[in-house]
Order: sequence, then C-alpha cells, then structure tokens
Amino acid sequence: MSSQSVNETNQHVFLSIVSHELKTPITSIQGFTQAMQRKIDQKIAMYQPNPLFTPEELRKHQEHLEMVMRQIKKLTRLIDDLLDVSVIESGQLGFDWTTIDLAAVLTDLAKRMQVFSSAHTITVNCEQQTDKYIVVADEGRLEKLFSNLLVNAIKYSPQGSNIIIDISEKDSSYLVSVKDTGVGIPDDDKPFIFDLYYRGKEIDRKKYSGLGLGLYLSKQIVEMHRGKIYFESEVGKGSTFFVELPKVQEG
Ligand code: ADP
Repeated sequence: MSSQSVNETNQHVFLSIVSHELKTPITSIQGFTQAMQRKIDQKIAMYQPNPLFTPEELRKHQEHLEMVMRQIKKLTRLIDDLLDVSVIESGQLGFDWTTIDLAAVLTDLAKRMQVFSSAHTITVNCEQQTDKYIVVADEGRLEKLFSNLLVNAIKYSPQGSNIIIDISEKDSSYLVSVKDTGVGIPDDDKPFIFDLYYRGKEIDRKKYSGLGLGLYLSKQIVEMHRGKIYFESEVGKGSTFFVELPKVQEG
C-alpha cells in the first residue's frame, strides 16, 4: 500500500471513529431535550397558577427548547453526513432497494422541509396520478439526496422566495428538478461543486455554514441509483438542480 493510500485509510478510520463518538452524546442530548419539551408542553396544557412560572415564562422555555432542537437536528445531519462519507470512502455503503413512488416521497419531504423553513415556499409540481413515478430506490438515501438539494436551495436563497420541485418524464427516466432564485453559482466554482469538501470560493462562510459534503453525497447516491445529477445556475438569478432516475422496466 502506498503512503498516500495509508494516509487516506487513516483519514477514513478517523472520520468514522469521530462521527460515531459524536453520535452517542448527541443522541442522548436529543432524548433529554425531547423529554423536557414534553414536560413543558404538559405544564402549558394543564396550567395551574403558581408563583414559580407564569404562562409567558413557560412559553419562553418552550421556544428556547425548540431552538436547541433545531441546532441538535443540524448537528445530527452533519454527523450523519460525515458517517456517510466515511462509509462511501471505505466502499461499504449498503442500500435497501424497494419500489418507490417518487411523487409521494417528494411531496412528503417538501411538507416536512416546509415546517423546517417557514420563510420559504416549497411547491411540488407533478401529475396527480398515484403510482405514476415508480422507481427502484433506497427510500432513506433518496430522501437524503433530495433533502440535501432542498437544504441548499433554502440556505442559498433569500427568505420569502419560492423553491419549486418539478417531476416529469424524460425518455426512460424520471426527471426531478429543484429550482431556487438564490445567489447562484459562479462559473469558477461550477466544475468543482460535486467534489468532497468543496465550498464556493466566494461564499460568505459566516452567513452560509457547511462542510462541502451535501453535493458530493448527493452525486454518490444518484450514481448508485444509475441516475444522473447536473445543474444550471446564474449568479444573482438562482440555480436549478436536475436528477434523472431510471424508470422501472415493465414486464
Ligand atoms: P455546502 O453547502 O456545505 O458548502 P454542498 O456540497 O452542498 O456544500 O455545496 C457545495 C457548494 O456548491 C456550496 O458551497 C455552494 O457554493 C454551491 N451550492 C450548492 N447548492 C447551491 C445553491 N442552491 N445555490 C447556490 N450555490 C449552491
């Protein structure tokens, strides 16, 4: 083994150990936070006047716990991404294949993401026929792929703007597009945005947090589904990411 591949192997092992070690405490912090949320919700629902807490104080606690939960979810996403990178790089990413209705998965995901970012409006456009867009996929990984694209669309576009998901047919594939009207991607960055750890050269790192993992992971997931991922983008106008996934062969 060359010294470069020994170094790379060590990096993957390190990444895997660190992300597993972070996962345990964050899971327990999440559990205790949820327990506190339930207690406060109960106290508000069955409020008895008492000198210790006014209803306003309880609501303030509720808000603070919601903020803590949002940060925990962000951290969990980050740790899961790091774990995925370490598994992909060691060539051990497993898939759980089933047949999936793409429209149902995307509509459900859009609803959940809408709760996560009420400052944007997320719309799904597709033919309202059930079981029309059937693909063979790993549902969890497919959700991860599209939630990465949606998180970016939300992160890199102004509050109050629209994010539009379109599902259509293209030859022997289904084509999903995720369109935002955000900051756009400069030409200098375009060749590299699917690279591991790559972040836009000019982006304000204080305003836009991230590690440059999302699009790398998305591309790996698409390719493992024998699909394609590409984008169109113009600075100041916005970006559209396209994902093609093969239709289930009939017969
Ligand atoms: P991260 O968002 O953590 O930087 P990603 O891998 O998701 O990592 O994206 C890589 C880079 O691609 C980002 O740093 C950003 O420059 C650019 N990018 C991705 N999605 C968008 C988008 N919807 N609008 C503008 N730039 C984007």
